[in-house]
Amino acid sequence: MSMTDFLPWQQAPARRWLASRERFAHAWLIHGRPGCGQMDFALAGASSLLCETPREGLACGQCQACRWVLAGNHPDLRRIRPDAQAVREGALDVAEDAKKQPSREIRIEQIRSLLPWFNTATHRGGWRVALLYPAESLNAIAANALLKILEEPPEHTVFLLAAQAPDRLLPTLVSRCRRLPLTVPGAAESVAWLQAQGVQEPAARLSAAGGAPLLALEQARAGQPVMPDWMMLFLDQAAAGGDGAALADALQAVDPADWVDGFQRLWLDLSLGAHGLPPRYHPAEGARIAAIAKALDPAALAHAAGWLQQQRRLARHPLNPKLLTDHAARYLLQAVRPR
Ligand SMILES: [Zn+2]
Repeated sequence: MSMTDFLPWQQAPARRWLASRERFAHAWLIHGRPGCGQMDFALAGASSLLCETPREGLACGQCQACRWVLAGNHPDLRRIRPDAQAVREGALDVAEDAKKQPSREIRIEQIRSLLPWFNTATHRGGWRVALLYPAESLNAIAANALLKILEEPPEHTVFLLAAQAPDRLLPTLVSRCRRLPLTVPGAAESVAWLQAQGVQEPAARLSAAGGAPLLALEQARAGQPVMPDWMMLFLDQAAAGGDGAALADALQAVDPADWVDGFQRLWLDLSLGAHGLPPRYHPAEGARIAAIAKALDPAALAHAAGWLQQQRRLARHPLNPKLLTDHAARYLLQAVRPR
């Protein structure tokens, strides 16, 4: 798949969206759940707007404009994203000073750098497309600068903002954009797509990623097991009555935000199991989850769910990570003890 192409489940909505390009809004907020391809949609959308010979409205992938997009040097396309994102894409080298982490924010200089560009003529008088993603990473000053631009939008220019959490954006900025919500593709379609990408155990992968196909692909390519080792260990210890020491050690090696997220998913599966329902995230471990769920105390499970929700806010900057993992391991194992 090239970046001028829409993902298979995005093609029909993209055609409907692009069909109105003659009277196009000048700013779009393209949003959807993480891992469902809003950035890909925005990029393929930009390509389609710039393409000289679109096919049924979508980029051809072969004309001069498409070749420029693919080579990353179309003069009428600007990609505004945090440096950390550009590094991930391989578009920016890691700063020479290794101590300086690449920025996770879209900074005001990046927005200001667009101003002279608005005054240049476009190639063959076509569109100029500014792609901003993820829009949540606009810091407050940059968001206000962008808002100023959108209040008096430059001619022939389309802004495509891709976001996962529009509620975290400046409301006045959101009000300046037309919203384009993207839906999660159906499981069968996602599984077929993952299979075509060469992903093993596509159905289990998709479930573990909460139904988000791009997240499932990313996890597979990163070599992550379908169920993380620490979660396997938790299930083992829950069944065997472990004291939590080994689990605490295992959790130390994981980003707290990741294990909190993982436990929240597992907790949902345990709650479903307590009601005799199949798990949503970990169907491959359904039998073990059901066995634990059948015997546990629902009040203790609910209490621990509340605790996990609290940790979600704190996990990004835990005061004492070791204390947190020690407590989590003991407390969460206790919470799933048989009644
Ligand atoms: Zn083209």
